[in-house]
Amino acid sequence: MTCNILPAWPYGIIGVSDRRLTGLVAGDIRTNRSTKITIFRCADAHGVIVYNGIGADENGLTPSQWLLHLADTEKLFDRSLSDVLDRVRDDLEIRLRPLRFKYGPKAARHTFIFGVWQQGESILHCLSNYEQLRDTTELAEGTEAVTESVWLAEPGARTRIVATGAHPSLANLRAISEAIAKSTPDRVKARCIKAVRDIAYGRSAGRGSVSATTQWVFMGPNPDQVWFGHDIVGGGYGQELPNLINIAATVPFGGTTMSAQIGGGIGMEIKDAYAGIETASSVSHYDPVKQQVVFDEPKCGTCGTPWPASHAFCEVCMYDDQHANGED
Ligand SMILES: [Zn+2]
Repeated sequence: MTCNILPAWPYGIIGVSDRRLTGLVAGDIRTNRSTKITIFRCADAHGVIVYNGIGADENGLTPSQWLLHLADTEKLFDRSLSDVLDRVRDDLEIRLRPLRFKYGPKAARHTFIFGVWQQGESILHCLSNYEQLRDTTELAEGTEAVTESVWLAEPGARTRIVATGAHPSLANLRAISEAIAKSTPDRVKARCIKAVRDIAYGRSAGRGSVSATTQWVFMGPNPDQVWFGHDIVGGGYGQELPNLINIAATVPFGGTTMSAQIGGGIGMEIKDAYAGIETASSVSHYDPVKQQVVFDEPKCGTCGTPWPASHAFCEVCMYDDQHANGED
């Protein structure tokens, strides 16, 4: 399970997602640094894609990597949004087939949510084989066909909030709506992060299927208004960032003056980006055998949970410590 929260309103779209990947059957924690947010620009729109359901397929590929594969091999994101949605839907149907055959229709459920800006309007699209936008019912078994649902702004109901995977509490959803009506995008983002964190720490004492550490993106109506980052519980040494296709995004480093822009124009993809001010070299290194950059993620010596090297503390032990001290 994952937790994503994606509010859209006339001035902004925010996507927040947790980073935990658990085994499809056993539910064991595989990693706490799975990137579940993809930010993109296509021929007639720009937006963010989050997902829930399959964490990784039989080849170890995550749904974020499925999307990058479509960008790499078919230049899919150079095309129109309707082409992107159609192709991602078809690709998802094909990828779910063997998982459905092997693990059954209950395990083979998946949803992609797209929050997009198209002609100045914020629009939500859902591709799923078990749930639909504006409908709280979920099918216990995923269907063979993946269908699309859309949620447009309407007069008097221009704010929409969608959460897929583990659902946030009504109080936290209300707090997000209030922040949209009365406060800044930064406050909306903080409320979304809190909602995910409450789910992570509300279940199995931080050892459940949702991590307390999140990645986030804020997008304005123009494609140059994209900010993203990594909210690490307890603080960290830098930021591991969502993936980018055909678009640039700015990562703030705290305060109001320090930031860095990452990514670029059409044809450019950024994956596994890391932005750090200090000790960055201890977090990742180039592995000459694998011929790729490897991010260190040793297991915590106390609880055994994967502990990304960018995190100052183990988020599970931090939760246990706080509760031992009687803190909230
Ligand atoms: Zn630990």
